[in-house]
Amino acid sequence: MDFKIVERSLFARIARMVLKSSNVAMVLGKTIHLSGVTRDDFMDDPGWLAHELCHIRQFRENGFFRFLWLYLAESWRVGYYNNKYEVEARIEGMKHRRHMNPAQRADNAITPTGLPLPADERETE
Ligand SMILES: [Zn+2]
Repeated sequence: MDFKIVERSLFARIARMVLKSSNVAMVLGKTIHLSGVTRDDFMDDPGWLAHELCHIRQFRENGFFRFLWLYLAESWRVGYYNNKYEVEARIEGMKHRRHMNPAQRADNAITPTGLPLPADERETE
């Protein structure tokens, strides 16, 4: 898939400060914006990468502004966790986890942040 990664992204940094989160990955169009996590660590986490690549596909399939609107409307309607775009990305991100035990699975949780944007936190420490 065609995508870019921006480390130390200002957008992701602002999101992180607003959320008081240790790390954030946020997708805008074809670009994954990172803050609090390096490109290498992000790429080493197959579940997280698959999750964010799913958001890139959602942008591509729906169009940039249309997807932002749909994402916001969906979050407004059902909440961030149940947002169908997050549910789809979560399923994508969990496909690699079938060989893991429950403790590893819990360690691998990726949660949407509650911003009206496809932004996610990785639960660490
Ligand atoms: Zn997400």
